[in-house]
Amino acid sequence: MRVLKFGGSSVADATRISRVLDIVEAEAAKDRVILVCSAISGCTDSLIRIGGQRDAALRSSMIAALRARHSQIVRRLFTGEQRRQVETELDSIFEDLSAAKGEQCVPFGEILSTRIIARKLNCEQLSAFWLDSRRLVKTDGGKLVEELSYKNIRAAIKPHSQTRVFVAPGFIASELDGTVSTLGRGGSDYSAALYAAAVGADSLQIWTDVPGIMTANPRQVSSAVTVPTMSYASALSLAENGAKVLYAPTLGPAMSSGIAIEVRNSFDPSNAGTIVCKSDPAQVETWVGVTSTDDPGSGLSTLCLVSEAVRVPEIVCERMLACLQENGVRVEGKPWREGDAYFARCSTAFIKEALCAVHREFFENASLGVIDVFLAGYGGVGRSFVSTVTAAAGRIASRTGKSIRIVGVSNSRSYMIDPGGISPEQLEQRLRYGKSAQNYAFIDEIETLSARKAVFVDCTDSHDIHLRYEGLMRRGINIVTSNRRSLAVPYAQYASMKATARENGVFFRYDTTVGNALPILESIAGRANCSDSIVAIEAVISCTLNQIISRYDGSRGPSFASLLREAHESALTEPDPRTDLGGKDVLRKLLILSREAGVPLEASDVEISPMLPPEFFDCGIDEFFAKLEAWEQNFIDLEDELDGKGMRQRFVATLRRDKTRPLGYRAEIKMQHVDPSDPFYWVTGTENVTVIRSEQSAPLIIRGAGEGTRLAASGIIRDLLQ
Ligand code: ADP
Ligand code: ASP
Ligand code: MG
Repeated sequence: MRVLKFGGSSVADATRISRVLDIVEAEAAKDRVILVCSAISGCTDSLIRIGGQRDAALRSSMIAALRARHSQIVRRLFTGEQRRQVETELDSIFEDLSAAKGEQCVPFGEILSTRIIARKLNCEQLSAFWLDSRRLVKTDGGKLVEELSYKNIRAAIKPHSQTRVFVAPGFIASELDGTVSTLGRGGSDYSAALYAAAVGADSLQIWTDVPGIMTANPRQVSSAVTVPTMSYASALSLAENGAKVLYAPTLGPAMSSGIAIEVRNSFDPSNAGTIVCKSDPAQVETWVGVTSTDDPGSGLSTLCLVSEAVRVPEIVCERMLACLQENGVRVEGKPWREGDAYFARCSTAFIKEALCAVHREFFENASLGVIDVFLAGYGGVGRSFVSTVTAAAGRIASRTGKSIRIVGVSNSRSYMIDPGGISPEQLEQRLRYGKSAQNYAFIDEIETLSARKAVFVDCTDSHDIHLRYEGLMRRGINIVTSNRRSLAVPYAQYASMKATARENGVFFRYDTTVGNALPILESIAGRANCSDSIVAIEAVISCTLNQIISRYDGSRGPSFASLLREAHESALTEPDPRTDLGGKDVLRKLLILSREAGVPLEASDVEISPMLPPEFFDCGIDEFFAKLEAWEQNFIDLEDELDGKGMRQRFVATLRRDKTRPLGYRAEIKMQHVDPSDPFYWVTGTENVTVIRSEQSAPLIIRGAGEGTRLAASGIIRDLLQ
């Protein structure tokens, strides 16, 4: 005999009931089955409210709503005469419910669900026999009368030796005097175990809405994983301390009759789930799961970590305390131990963070460092970051021993935070229904969390978000940014951010702000920090201008104006392309490069020679393009002249040592004419080339793609993993 129990969410509607029937049919083909079911989800709560409702009108409207839910299921499952018969039966059950008082209302949920299911099985020619658990399962003052219940169950089943499927309501029972009683909330699991123990079943299957018993409640800790097997003792410990996936008394009858409990997912029947059985004591230290119970009166919750075979138990309490404190969770009193379970008490407001912290510490592969990321900016680079993190997760874990978990995300409209982790598939949807992101509310909330060691990743192009960086750093949050504007601020602000990062022991990385994923800044820092002083940095780093200039071929190709217009229309340029032509973006990059080399450069120190005379910059955009067309002959003449000499022009940013200057360096951005011996001569498309000249080494030339959101994402990931 096999006993199968389905919980409320597994029988919540007609589609799910049909799935249950498929599973039952498959099992009934192998052996006789006792099918135990809960009420449809939410039904028991409604019945409790109906029982407590004094207002007759309200009460009957609540009953009508419940009737409507059941009728809808019946309409979907049955047709014609069968539907009429089930509706007549519902009429009579709901009549009894209307007449019932107080607690007597509660058992109707399981009667309704199982009567519907039994009738449906009969339609499928499975000859189901309905067992009235109220008559069979007996309680005395609410406590189970075990032997009598077993005797009743056996006696009820015996005469039906030809029956393949029995259907029994879970949860409900009766007192010795016949008044209806229940086995407590969540009690259908217990009913199933009683039926299984009574008939000496070979299999007891608890079908529910999660993949099995997991290392934590997956609704609280998204990185929880299913535990394939566990001992009765561990399952009992988890159940008693808050893991409602299994009702704690269920373990008693299963354990004493030696029946294994399979906890399986009714939405994924091919998955084996968890097997709870008698097992030899674990040989190696094992962490089974973490769970919690709330005490609403005190506002406190008790967290419980269940283990097996821990050799030095004293250390576990210390480790638990340290990881909670490190994550900013205040622990009330000291953690303590009872057998194989370890407890800590904290405010209910922080219990989710506490569960996540303990789960990270004990379950998420000790050698694997989890990097929690708050992602600001969900545009091209942000999206690419998320998809690259997802696609490369396995490789990152195996090569670096680290994993990246996104715990918060924001775009310009909304944000959402989940310390347990946001799965990339749900990110977009959850962000859409997130909170308003106005006035950096995202950062305000991060600052209230105990997120030490997390990383704030800025993929925005906001001009003022950098003003929030130092606040985050002071709370122990690291910063990785691809937002160039945040670095190209006045030098004093830049220096202050760097100092705050140092003082608070956090990292502040921005390698992708110049040359995308090319290792330019780290190469400059590498030389400058190791006393090889930089003599010059020369860089062709404007992807936009490079692309236009390298495609321009004088009279042999399209005009300069048409190439610029094309780049403008495909959004490769800034909204006003003169920002690029005037060297503004290159200026930001040169500031960042120079500061990395230890030169405290300000924007006003840089000499910029724009590509065009001043009159091109103080007119409207249409007039600008008209002027540019008219200027074409100048471009052609220059191009022809350079062509004749075997040279090309490139827009170059330079920082060069010059003792006559106050900073000891001269900074320039201008068009230069270069011959084939110069690395800039060969730049094509959106490539970047940077030449770093230092005192003691030969020039370092870094050349590669300077554009692309995927590259930016991989640069950010490199910053995170360093
Ligand atoms: P059913 O209606 O099938 O009896 P329950 O709601 O009683 O289902 O139990 C399943 C729920 O238990 C899951 O949806 C999950 O949120 C919760 N749960 C709590 N702790 C755990 C855990 N350690 N593993 C799996 N689920 C858990
Ligand atoms: N329907 C009951 C409850 O909601 C019993 C169960 O679902 O196990 O508590
Ligand atoms: Mg349950």
